[in-house]
Parts: sequence; structure tokens; C-alpha cells
Amino acid sequence: MGGIYVPKQQFIEDLTEPQIEEIQKRMRPGGSFLSSGFIGPSQTLREVIKADAQALNQYGITYEQIADRLSFFMQWAFREESNSTGRLYCEGVPVDGKFMVFLHRSLGSIPCPFFYSLVRDEKDFGREYTCGAGSCSFEVKNEQDHSEISFPSLMPHLVRDHHFFEGDVPGRLNPEDAIKVLEIKPGVDYSLPKPKEKPSSEPGKKGNWISLLLKFLRAPHP
Ligand SMILES: [Zn+2]
Repeated sequence: MGGIYVPKQQFIEDLTEPQIEEIQKRMRPGGSFLSSGFIGPSQTLREVIKADAQALNQYGITYEQIADRLSFFMQWAFREESNSTGRLYCEGVPVDGKFMVFLHRSLGSIPCPFFYSLVRDEKDFGREYTCGAGSCSFEVKNEQDHSEISFPSLMPHLVRDHHFFEGDVPGRLNPEDAIKVLEIKPGVDYSLPKPKEKPSSEPGKKGNWISLLLKFLRAPHP
């Protein structure tokens, strides 16, 4: 039973017109994917992506920076959720002394509309192939200026791998809001493997210390 090839990244420049048509059909409100849709009924994918690209350009911010920053906050929320039992929903998790992140679980998983294929076997058992999926949403509040954003867990994938923030629909993350609320600055690398603030999470330092010791021990001594 061979699987099918699922491209992880697909940018609009690389897609053919028929492919864009197909993706747009999946993205429309009322489509089988998400009742509220990924783009407005009269929007085109091309114009949505183009407008957001111009906004990012204006701020000198990259898709990777936004995706990394979103993932950073999501990681905090997921970690806290695994340590607690639902308290997160109402209380939120403090991050970096000025942000609060909230996680909301929803029922069912939403697949990424950029690539989707449902393959049925002889018993009519369906298997979904998609480049990404998500089943929860997040809110991040900046407590200093009382601004906030919310976004679905699929968003970092949409931004990083498709340069897409959704169109005029409830799930949209306005990139300008993300840049302001999350205080994203040009030229800063946000691709941290782990949140670095909690004292319990300093494997980097410990790792360095251990690797230095090992290096010392392994080095030839007279
Ligand atoms: Zn995707």
C-alpha cells in the first residue's frame, strides 16, 4: 500500500491556475473544510496573499519570524496544558512578564486547504493526506498595551509554508496585528527551539557544560 506524496510547502508562485482554482474552492465559506472558510466569498487567493506580502514588506518582517513567534507562544500553552487540567482555559499562561497566552480546544481537526486528498481503500476506509492540520485556537494578550490577537493552531503552518494568513474570515490573523501585539522586530531570529525563560528549562547551558566536560575527558592527556 503506497502512500502519496504530500508537499509540505506550496507557494502561490509555484502553483498552476487549475491548482489555485482547486485550493480556492476548498477555501470558500461553506466548503467541506471549514464552514466559515479561509477566504471571503468574493476574494481570490492571489489578492489575499499579495496584500499581506506588501504589509510584511512595509514592516521589514518575514513570514518565518511571525510563524516562529506564534509557535513560541503555542509551545508555552501546550506545555502548561500538559501540566494542568483545563485551568489554562480560563487563567492563561504568563509569558515573558507581559504576555498571556490562552489555548482553546475545539472538536475535530481542520486540515490545511493547500493540499488535501482522501484515499479510500477496498473497505471504504478513508485516509486523509494533508500538509497540515490543527484542532485548537490561541489568544495572546499583550498586557502592557492591552492589545490581543487570536489565531488557529494551523496558522504557523499557513504562514511559513504557504505565506497565507487567511482572508476576510473569522480565522484570519492580520499580520500587522501580529507584528504589533507580539512585538516582532526586523532582523531578529525568533526560531528558538524552546522557551528560554523558565529556570527549569536550561538544557542548553547544562548541555554545554556537559559537552565541555566530555570534550575535556576525551581529549588526550599526558
Ligand atoms: Zn498546508
